[in-house]
Amino acid sequence: MERLGEKCGVFGVFGRGLDASRLAFFGLFALQHRGQESSGIASSDGERMHSHKRMGLVAQAFTEKDMQKLVGHMAIGHNRYSTSKNSTVKHAQPAVLEDLGIALVHNGNLPSTAALETFLKSKGVSVRFLSDSEMMLQAIGVYAREGRTLPEAVAAAFPLMTGAFSLLIMDKTQVIALRDSYGIRPLSVGTLNGGFVFSSETCAFHPIGAEFLRDVAPGEMVIVDEGGLRSERLAEGHEQLDIFEFVYFARPDSHLSGKSVYGVRENFGKELAKEFPYPADVVIPVPETGIPVALGYAKASGVPFETGLIKNRYIHRTFIEPEQHIREQGVKIKLTPLPEVLAGKRVIIIDDSIVRGTTSRQIVKMLFEAGAREVDFLISCPPVRYPDFYGIDTPKQEDLLASKMSVEEMRAYLGATRLGFLSYEGLIRATGLPESNFCTSCFTGRYPIDLHERAKEVRIPSEVTVPESQRQW
Ligand code: 5GP
Ligand code: MG
Repeated sequence: MERLGEKCGVFGVFGRGLDASRLAFFGLFALQHRGQESSGIASSDGERMHSHKRMGLVAQAFTEKDMQKLVGHMAIGHNRYSTSKNSTVKHAQPAVLEDLGIALVHNGNLPSTAALETFLKSKGVSVRFLSDSEMMLQAIGVYAREGRTLPEAVAAAFPLMTGAFSLLIMDKTQVIALRDSYGIRPLSVGTLNGGFVFSSETCAFHPIGAEFLRDVAPGEMVIVDEGGLRSERLAEGHEQLDIFEFVYFARPDSHLSGKSVYGVRENFGKELAKEFPYPADVVIPVPETGIPVALGYAKASGVPFETGLIKNRYIHRTFIEPEQHIREQGVKIKLTPLPEVLAGKRVIIIDDSIVRGTTSRQIVKMLFEAGAREVDFLISCPPVRYPDFYGIDTPKQEDLLASKMSVEEMRAYLGATRLGFLSYEGLIRATGLPESNFCTSCFTGRYPIDLHERAKEVRIPSEVTVPESQRQW
């Protein structure tokens, strides 16, 4: 089955007197970095549900006319980022059950849908062509048709869901927020004019004038209706937020598990300065994620921070396949080096991660072409050796550069003078949170949620010493 519904942003609104869909629009606009492929909103005025979704960026997916149809004081919305090539608007979200008037949006990914499939088939629901998100909605629908209220139906379907999910679910009278019992993907609640808003990241609160209230806890179901906000525990939660949210994914103005993403990234830089005190003339970031890291490195080391690469601000995933010559230009379309900063210099360049190594290799070449004398590449996380199954689109394990090469081999491949990865200990220390708070699977191969049928896609090297009987993967 193709991988769908991954790496997304969700936003929800409930509040009498609020123009919910318009608030959701601006919420999704602030969450654009979490998905650029399609966008959608479902709204309700307590009587009828309306929904609209289209391929493209938030600003492209909704016209004024579309917005005017999305009436009501409740709304949920979604930005989708999928790796599947032949994706269409069919799997864009919100997913809606028209007959019941229930809509759902999902951030995360279910590595195993076996339990959901078995359940749905036993109830006569065909699972062919359904994404993991759509299966969760169908399971909730089965219980709702049996006469349960929406919170009861969600609670009944919860044990069938195995994987990473931060969900918003809406019917005509309530919005429900639900996070898997490990809290792999973030989800927060805010307040606005006596109403409530939900967001994948707290960065979406400020633009709409909302105030952060709290995170949805792992295993918690938060229900907002005319009576206000209440909460139910569906499972004993144990937070293991994907640490890659801090490394790459989240916006720097968000707070995750109470920690500023900007501050944590700056700490990554300070840790890097301790671990790799290279002699250098300048330290430059790969924009955007590398900026606070390079600033932290500069502060701790005294090496001056400079902007050595200028990023085209309007770059985003496009649906127009570039012609061959343009494609070969690769990262040059996105980044331009400044010889004024680089020529004759010993340059430290900092990026958040190496995935396939293709852009990093082009960047090194570009810096040397601009006249850099030395290029030391520092990475604000350890080598990514293991694939992701919980909603970040790292590719198959064999495509991950660090799964095939040693650090020295990677350095030679990139053509860098030196190459350094932040240590695992340094990474954890920089967050100010204990290791047990995180899912670190892409670095350690330790997967907190059983991968079931997909476990065979992971190759754990022999140096891993966890006994067979205790392995979770
Ligand atoms: P590489 O040089 O390995 O091809 O790519 C590294 C770059 O990919 C880094 O600049 C990093 O910011 C970015 N990156 C890291 N994780 C992801 C991801 O999950 N999706 C996408 N699209 N880019 C990523
Ligand atoms: Mg990057």
